[in-house]
Amino acid sequence: LVRLRQRLAGSQSGLGRGLLALLSRDRLDEDTWESIEDTLLTADVGVAPTQELVEKLRTRLRVEGGEDARAVLREELLTLVDAGMDRRLQVSGAEGRPGVVLVVGVNGSGKTTTVGKVSRILVAEDRTVVLGAADTFRAAAVEQLATWGERVGVDVVRGAEGTDPASVAFEAVKEGLDTGADTVIVDTAGRLQNKAGLMDELGKVKRVIEKQAPVTEVLLVLDATTGQNGLIQARVFSEVVDVTGIVLTKLDGSAKGGIVVQVQRELGVPVKLVGLGEGADDLAPFDPGAFVDALLG
Ligand code: GDP
Repeated sequence: LVRLRQRLAGSQSGLGRGLLALLSRDRLDEDTWESIEDTLLTADVGVAPTQELVEKLRTRLRVEGGEDARAVLREELLTLVDAGMDRRLQVSGAEGRPGVVLVVGVNGSGKTTTVGKVSRILVAEDRTVVLGAADTFRAAAVEQLATWGERVGVDVVRGAEGTDPASVAFEAVKEGLDTGADTVIVDTAGRLQNKAGLMDELGKVKRVIEKQAPVTEVLLVLDATTGQNGLIQARVFSEVVDVTGIVLTKLDGSAKGGIVVQVQRELGVPVKLVGLGEGADDLAPFDPGAFVDALLG
């Protein structure tokens, strides 16, 4: 976790440090405030949140003076990432049935990798896990999940290429029930070409699962480096299925952490996990305090 924090700090600290440097200038003139806005916008904080934050900073620093700029900035950034949201993963079922985690998102966002990493975390917590490879349109995705299954030591239920995704999801949950697993994680296909098709498909997958066990979490996986496109995708998915948590991947490579703010506002659900690399351990709970501290360096 320390290593992950360092990596996050390394890639994101430009934002916070840049802001602090600007805020600690002797005179906060209009040029400085504009630079602060640019810094926030460049980090993908978004127009409305940027304006709100700058407004608050201006007011507070006028009243409280510049000395506590760091503390004020920390507090306002925490408010911006909505530090109070419940970010626990809901992975437990009830009455002898497994909890089911549905993982959705466009192809390439890091869905399959995230399923692998989450299963690893759950296994490390002594939970028994079954994976369902319901992205049946891409043979490579099924293979990739199977490889994760071997690596983590969990069963992967898969169908032949082109099998109905819902039937794979059904079989995975059935195996979870039969074996008394704690959690079933279902990887889905992420073809966005056709919203109605996606809606039909994910709707059916969800209905079929719920015949057997509760869907306790719907995780939307988003690539943090895709900016506005990612937000548009998020909107489409949230219209298709009730998203309960966001996984922001590839936060290691860019200083675009501000997207956390935008996507939470857009969907009204918390970022629960962040992906910080391609490796098996490179997934961490999203911790607003640690995130903001990393920003501030
Ligand atoms: P899917 O198509 O949504 O299932 O995406 P994949 O899980 O296949 O991931 C697409 C690519 O992104 C792969 O090369 C992954 O290794 C990579 N990837 C996934 N998560 C992360 C992350 O958090 N950081 C980085 N740097 N790469 C990631």
